[in-house]
Amino acid sequence: MDLNTLTIDAVRCAIAEGKTTATRLAESFYAKIEKEDQAIGAYLTISKDRAMAKAAQIDAMAAKGEKLQPLGGVPVGIKDVMVTRGVRTTAGSKVLKNFVPPYDCTAVARMEAAGAVVLGKMNCDEFAMGSSNENSAYKPVHNPRDLTRVPGGSSGGSAAAVASGMAVVTLGSDTGGSIRQPASFCGVVGLMPTYGRVSRYGLIAFASSLDHIGPLAKTVKDAAIVLGTIAGRDPMDSTSADLPVPDYVAELEKPVRSLKLGVAKEYFGEGLDREVRAAIEFAIQKLATLGCEIVPVSLPHTEYAIPTYYLVATAEASSNLARYDGVRYGHRAQSVRSLSDMYERTRDQGFGAEVKRRIMLGTYALSAGYYDAYYLKAQRVRTLLTRDFEEAFKMVDAIVTPTSPTAAFKLGEKTGNPLAMYLADIYTVTADLVGVPGISIPCGETREKLPIGLQILGRHFDEATILRLAHAYEQARKN
Ligand code: GLN
Repeated sequence: MDLNTLTIDAVRCAIAEGKTTATRLAESFYAKIEKEDQAIGAYLTISKDRAMAKAAQIDAMAAKGEKLQPLGGVPVGIKDVMVTRGVRTTAGSKVLKNFVPPYDCTAVARMEAAGAVVLGKMNCDEFAMGSSNENSAYKPVHNPRDLTRVPGGSSGGSAAAVASGMAVVTLGSDTGGSIRQPASFCGVVGLMPTYGRVSRYGLIAFASSLDHIGPLAKTVKDAAIVLGTIAGRDPMDSTSADLPVPDYVAELEKPVRSLKLGVAKEYFGEGLDREVRAAIEFAIQKLATLGCEIVPVSLPHTEYAIPTYYLVATAEASSNLARYDGVRYGHRAQSVRSLSDMYERTRDQGFGAEVKRRIMLGTYALSAGYYDAYYLKAQRVRTLLTRDFEEAFKMVDAIVTPTSPTAAFKLGEKTGNPLAMYLADIYTVTADLVGVPGISIPCGETREKLPIGLQILGRHFDEATILRLAHAYEQARKN
């Protein structure tokens, strides 16, 4: 069985037909990880005991002739910002180096309840802060398509594992693009659901009003299956929406003819790589040949999205990360003189440079004299961005853009220049600020054979339409 191309349906069929077992499959994945992950660095922790116990349970059910669940026996990986009971969870940070959580993130629990076999925890930027995975306190991730390049971030391990066949699907998190941008850099599908569609319970908080959990997968259908299993109200997260969850897989087959697709000029300006632009324009043509109507729209406040994001996200992060004080859990500095000395040293030793930079920026933006000038203003611009989308969605059903202005850059290329790194998020952060869903799907390659991603953004809670468009495009591209 070729693990590199394995999809959810293929796994379930192979198990149902007795061609393999969940146990044998998990073992083959572990053998592949053992052999190939040295060069890529996608996994931070392997959860073999938990995986093999789950696989045995699936095999016992299959042996009794029970119908396999939606993810029955499917080997998956979980970004290390989602807590897993009894399995070390670090958020890519030294401050949580030996942290073993006492409970499961709802999304992970739902994946497992649907039959998934959790192989391990995926590498990521520290506390999901980054666009290249180079901020992981443990090791960088290398892009499987070109090992000298970054996989994107912050869900770099989740994207690289899917791209290299070291997991069938993975979960990532997206606060400013962290599912969609690595998906685009690694040539896989990445879906950020609407804010509130998937419970954040057990997701280690970065910026609570922007954090989303979603799948990375090889196909749009796999992403739809995973979304169907993790979506829906959770009493443990009051921001999770109490709305019915559609059958996303059934929705995929509906026609896309006469859907209206917005193209915003603000997403095709300066800084967009020539080859990326050409690939996106070609993809838009393809969607037009499928019967979609292409409509020019304007999102006039787009240029303020990056500064707005880096004010709101850092402000919320400075508050969320206050809990890492060495008292309750995680790393604690030794040989300290006083309580405040303990706090200071713990945080100095535990956090990396980017996390410290964000805490300082956020604390400044929230400080008494500057709150109105920065944080409050950013919140107002956030409202203007939301209105831009409300206006556009009066005219169109979805908006298509590049996911990232460039293909994957080289490791080390931007580490000396935080601002250049922040600008890599230019096409992704707005959807997080506005809370609308977005998907990135492969739409071609550069001359250097680096993947390019097409982003499709939809109305609040209308994941079904963007999945349907993405699926239609993916099928049309194959033929
Ligand atoms: N790259 C962005 C940042 O560094 C987004 C991160 C994310 O989505 N988690 O904040």
